[in-house]
Amino acid sequence: MKINLDELFYEQDDVRLVEELPARGIEVSGSLVEMTAEPVKAELDFHKTNEQEVFLRGQFHFGWQLICDRCMANVSKPMDLSFTRDILLEEDGHILDLDELIREEAILNFPTKVLCKEECLGICPDCGKNKNDEACECHQAGAVDIRFAGLKELFENNFKEV
Ligand SMILES: [Zn+2]
Ligand SMILES: [Zn+2]
Repeated sequence: MKINLDELFYEQDDVRLVEELPARGIEVSGSLVEMTAEPVKAELDFHKTNEQEVFLRGQFHFGWQLICDRCMANVSKPMDLSFTRDILLEEDGHILDLDELIREEAILNFPTKVLCKEECLGICPDCGKNKNDEACECHQAGAVDIRFAGLKELFENNFKEV
């Protein structure tokens, strides 16, 4: 969606726009990340500072469809982004590309870590089970890695001699 800033400020210097835009995929570090199906909500407060400059304070609300870093489960992550921009009318050709602005802000605020829940147990590296769904036997107390079994025996023997 493109906004013609000349038309926007035809009669006044302060304009508020509330828009809904379709959800879409955005390329983040080389891979396409989809938004959830609900539309992107944009709230934009424009103030024309002078003939060359517009100050924009805005908010975008949307959701990401992501994958948990630990257990690979699907995660819907709601995003509420607040931002400000100085728009230079000559440089930006008096047109604001709202889709491009959403893309830039979404990438800037992309979550660095994605977890389905803070205490996600992840996938067992030995048996591949999702440990959130079922407990596996691999690392229970008392179970000893075969590589350390000899050491354990040694340690226990030494202990008995004392
Ligand atoms: Zn998880
Ligand atoms: Zn396991």
